[in-house]
Amino acid sequence: MEKRIIKDLSADELAAAMAAMGEERHRAVQILKWLYQKGAASFAEMTNLPRDLRERLDERFVVTAPRLVESIRSGADASQKFLLETADGALVETVLMEADGHRTICVSSQAGCALGCSFCRTGEGGFERDLASGEILDQVLFFKKSGYLPPRRRFNIVFMGMGEPLLNMRNLAAAIGILNLEAGFGLGEKRITVSTVGIPDRIRELAATDLRFSLAVSLNATTDESRRRLMPGSRDLGDTLAAAREFARARRARVTLEYVLIAGENDSDEDAGRLAALSSGGPFKLNLIPFNEWDGCEHRRPGEDRIERFIGLLLPTAPAVTVRRSQGRDIGAACGQLRCRRLSRG
Ligand code: SAH
Ligand code: SF4
Repeated sequence: MEKRIIKDLSADELAAAMAAMGEERHRAVQILKWLYQKGAASFAEMTNLPRDLRERLDERFVVTAPRLVESIRSGADASQKFLLETADGALVETVLMEADGHRTICVSSQAGCALGCSFCRTGEGGFERDLASGEILDQVLFFKKSGYLPPRRRFNIVFMGMGEPLLNMRNLAAAIGILNLEAGFGLGEKRITVSTVGIPDRIRELAATDLRFSLAVSLNATTDESRRRLMPGSRDLGDTLAAAREFARARRARVTLEYVLIAGENDSDEDAGRLAALSSGGPFKLNLIPFNEWDGCEHRRPGEDRIERFIGLLLPTAPAVTVRRSQGRDIGAACGQLRCRRLSRG
């Protein structure tokens, strides 16, 4: 019998697996706590389970962990980027950021990305495969186990690493389920943000679940034409915003609209006017991200005066505006940059 990777099971699947093995429900809770709160690396460590159950688990399941390939610390701020290798050799990037005493883990949902946005290094590298839910959770566990997160302090998770989370729905949902769960990571909607290129039907589908997370939509342009040029895999702008509004209504929360500012592409006064019009009066927050330059990409970051002018034009009518002075610029923490260096080196 081929062993299953236990961290790929959703909480419901684990409960069902326990029932199928003739075990009581609370065993599933004990196993979740061992895996996600104590970071157990084997069933043998799960000492409050009967020995015969540990043995039977060992026959059916395996507890995997990624291998650290490389890490780079930013000289400019407190962010640190890690390249992890999964059991089958896929390379996964994950970034730890620190600001105002809060730690945020930026996780990947796929190895690579199929959507090919022209400003994104992950897109340039192409798509390898979806990450399993266990591989998503392993990125968080990596930080917990290696002492990067102080014990008992809350942290935030953003799905802003490699990949498009809404193109990996089953594994995204299973991972968020365990992040939410009290016996798992105990993180609610204020601590988890899913960033998406915006796939309207999938946003609606997620709005109808009881998964707790905040939504961020990468708008990045104010007309369909310029958006398609920058993001060839993007969907209709109007429908994307309609779905974001529905999500906000269902959750009674605001949706963040992310906007990467790229010189000469989407940073004109007209763009600022359209962005203000698109977002004003809606259940939105705006997050401007000055483009992070990378070798081989022609796009440029706008100058500071252009950025300031853009913000100035938004402020009278747009909802709350924040600017993400990108962390880890010097280590290419934006997206997919570490993996690309590695892949090109062979
Ligand atoms: N696929 C999802 C999540 C990963 S990208 C998405 O597109 O939303 C996370 C964020 O990083 C997105 O808002 C994207 O627009 C932004 N991003 C990608 N490359 C960037 C770069 N070079 N500089 C600044 N932001 C970038
Ligand atoms: Fe994929 Fe997001 Fe990068 Fe676009 S910005 S290529 S959707 S990871």
